[in-house]
Amino acid sequence: MTDFGFSISKSATIDMDAVDMELYERVCRQVPSARICMSCGSCSASCVAAPYSGMSVRKVILALQRGKDVRTMLSNCMLCGKCSMACPRGVNTRNLILTVCRNL
Ligand code: SF4
Ligand code: SF4
Repeated sequence: MTDFGFSISKSATIDMDAVDMELYERVCRQVPSARICMSCGSCSASCVAAPYSGMSVRKVILALQRGKDVRTMLSNCMLCGKCSMACPRGVNTRNLILTVCRNL
């Protein structure tokens, strides 16, 4: 193959048909407010664990929507509930975290 000195990056497109959203849908049935997350990041900004661990409810919800594993991130949560108070959409984040853990 000819080397042109560059390569084409792998597509970042997400094939939604190939994404397993079963866990996300199950969690949303138990915590309906999870559906109204607008990915603003207020929860992450207020999270006491975020600066040390990268914990982020916003990222957890996005990972669930993309069928990715969230165990490592959730293991850093201290269930303090601060993110619940910071959410402008009223997402029950603490309950969401507990529900995801129960369904894993
Ligand atoms: S603060 Fe609420 S709306 Fe914003 S990203 Fe977090 S869960 Fe979603
Ligand atoms: S409950 Fe978890 S995710 Fe929410 S602010 Fe506390 S440590 Fe962060």
